[in-house]
Amino acid sequence: MKHNFLVLITIFYCAVSCNSDDEGVSHTEEWSYNGETGPDRWAEIEKESECGGAFQSPINILQTQTDNTLQPLDIHYDAGIKISNVVNNGHTVQFNFEAGNYITLNGEKYKLKQFHFHELSEHTLGGVHFPMEIHLVHVSDAGKYAVLAILTEESATGSDQFDFLDTYLPLAVEESKTVNSAYNMNEVLPGEKQYFTYTGSLTTPPCTEDVQWFIFKTPVEVPVGLIESLHDAMPANNYRPTQPLNGRIVKESV
Ligand SMILES: [Zn+2]
Repeated sequence: MKHNFLVLITIFYCAVSCNSDDEGVSHTEEWSYNGETGPDRWAEIEKESECGGAFQSPINILQTQTDNTLQPLDIHYDAGIKISNVVNNGHTVQFNFEAGNYITLNGEKYKLKQFHFHELSEHTLGGVHFPMEIHLVHVSDAGKYAVLAILTEESATGSDQFDFLDTYLPLAVEESKTVNSAYNMNEVLPGEKQYFTYTGSLTTPPCTEDVQWFIFKTPVEVPVGLIESLHDAMPANNYRPTQPLNGRIVKESV
């Protein structure tokens, strides 16, 4: 009881003082992509997170090890599975999927939950960013993450798959829209599915580690119209800087 009472006192105290305009980051402060709440301070702001960990994402892909034993990705995306809704969470624009799409890794199912965007790309190749990166976030029943990352290039011409997404923009921060339409995620993937893979983390707080990353080697062309719409909806440069490898090896499928 005594502990609860102290918590109440603290909450009351914060209600009157923590949101004042004084300098410094209060515990109510939300992380962001720049300035005082930017990536350099995530570990400090999000104390329960793994943002200060040694095996974080994204990374710069520079030296890789070609591995002939890496299997092709075992992707099971069904054209009939629906996107339920889209939300602008203030950090990215995220399309949420109904259940049904999954990939299999080492015999374990990882269900596709959502995909979202970063501009510029988070992963770099030889230090170079791509205009945008799409993350397809999968979660296993055990709560483990696997992310497929698509690097994108700008295209002057439209595409049905990407133009469809554009019809839900603009989208204000905190705004969400119902989609409830079948969306064939296979059409978004590159034709060539060779990939880079390594173990890293979520690239936003809580920066959870032990995430299996698969970055397609072949970029996908995205209409410049969609990139511009996303640019207007998302915070500027919503990418985390690349993180130290700390001995990790990036493998490359053939
Ligand atoms: Zn992401």
